[in-house]
Amino acid sequence: MFDGQKAIRIAQKHGAAYCDIRIENITKNGITIENGIIEQSTIIQDSGIGIRVLYDGAWGFFSTSHSDKIEDGIISAIKAAKSIQKKAKIALSDISVQQKTINYPIQKEIDVSEMTKISQDLDKTIRQNPKISKSLVSGIITLTGKYFESSEGAKITQNYTDSTIDMVATAHQYGMTQSINITEGGRGGLEKLANVFDVASEISDNTASLLDAKQPKEEKAALVMNPDFVALLTHEILGHPSEADRVLGKEMAWAGGAWWAGMLGQKVGSQSLNVIDDPTIPGSLGWYEFDDEGVKSQKKKLVEDGILVNHMHSRETASMFGVEPNSSMRATSYGFMPLIRMACTCIEAGNWDPQEIIKDTKHGYYISNMKVPSIDMKRHNWSISAQYAHKIENGEIGELLRDVIIVGTAPEFFSSIDACGNDFTVRPITNCGKGDPMQQMKMGNGGPTIRGVATIRGIS
Ligand SMILES: [Zn+2]
Repeated sequence: MFDGQKAIRIAQKHGAAYCDIRIENITKNGITIENGIIEQSTIIQDSGIGIRVLYDGAWGFFSTSHSDKIEDGIISAIKAAKSIQKKAKIALSDISVQQKTINYPIQKEIDVSEMTKISQDLDKTIRQNPKISKSLVSGIITLTGKYFESSEGAKITQNYTDSTIDMVATAHQYGMTQSINITEGGRGGLEKLANVFDVASEISDNTASLLDAKQPKEEKAALVMNPDFVALLTHEILGHPSEADRVLGKEMAWAGGAWWAGMLGQKVGSQSLNVIDDPTIPGSLGWYEFDDEGVKSQKKKLVEDGILVNHMHSRETASMFGVEPNSSMRATSYGFMPLIRMACTCIEAGNWDPQEIIKDTKHGYYISNMKVPSIDMKRHNWSISAQYAHKIENGEIGELLRDVIIVGTAPEFFSSIDACGNDFTVRPITNCGKGDPMQQMKMGNGGPTIRGVATIRGIS
């Protein structure tokens, strides 16, 4: 239906110095079950082409789901590029141009009827605890077929399936409501949902237990954070500030900045802090062999032994920094220009047995599972709520705590990290927003159990 080569020829005919196209077919099957009732069952199909042109050092972009609109669209994209008042002309760093087809493997096929059955059974599992007043389960299977072609000769096809399930358990008693939500899944089929029933039982029982839990008293203390909490922490205060467009303060209005701008080669955290972004981790929601500029994916070190060593780059920002592009450009769909996005940003594992970290903590807290983040524009001051926490006294897990929020500043917290576990875990993130128009992106984030110092307090 769409002819990428023809689109590129048209762009070149009208004077584009560079052009790339992404032709995509996306099918999203979703099922939502609330308290045993199917509330929603949707199939959304979308296909189209996104065309990016570089004209006289400025970008123009056009996308459509109609193949007959292409020439007019390209002319308007070039017109838009001409109208941009440039401070500096965009240059693209060189890449090795590739032609390849990748079908990402699925170990166990999943279809809509199977996803519906699993979601219904999960809903029942959550409601098994009599204290649960509401259960909400949303299962989504997304099939994506993506073709990238560039005026440099790249031709890359990537086909993959994402299977994810969101679960929420809510309990209510004596005027108090408690709820726990969690997302499971990844790039692949049924194998990515192998443990969902254990997780459903766990969130059900923990939500019920929170009804009898107390809030923490405010205290700055040693906090042992589990990998799920570390995943969101890493996303917000290590991943986002590593995006080179933020570092450059470009488009501050929608991307924000980064407090560590200009600090490459300097110490930003303790010796124990090692941070990577890695699109090559199979099964993560940020698993890909090529990004949306056709750059071959690679694991990149962002922080090494506490030193800031690199950022995530596009071909454009790599050229500005004088470094190699490192496969960080992705768009939510053909309808958007790619942006610098995390693939799978994680704190690397250390040598500690996570149980030993707890045993080694005289007084502190064990923080479980991500909830809601709130971070300033430069990713310096942060607060992230947790689903729940436990006290740690003399190396033992103690009292359960509800309505917990953790507050810190990035440099101080990074310097305080003194233990990283050997339990490296990647978690699914399905709702990262960036850009104007806003692009919602899926990715992996993770790390091991870590220990550092920050303030714990109750949410009023
Ligand atoms: Zn985000």
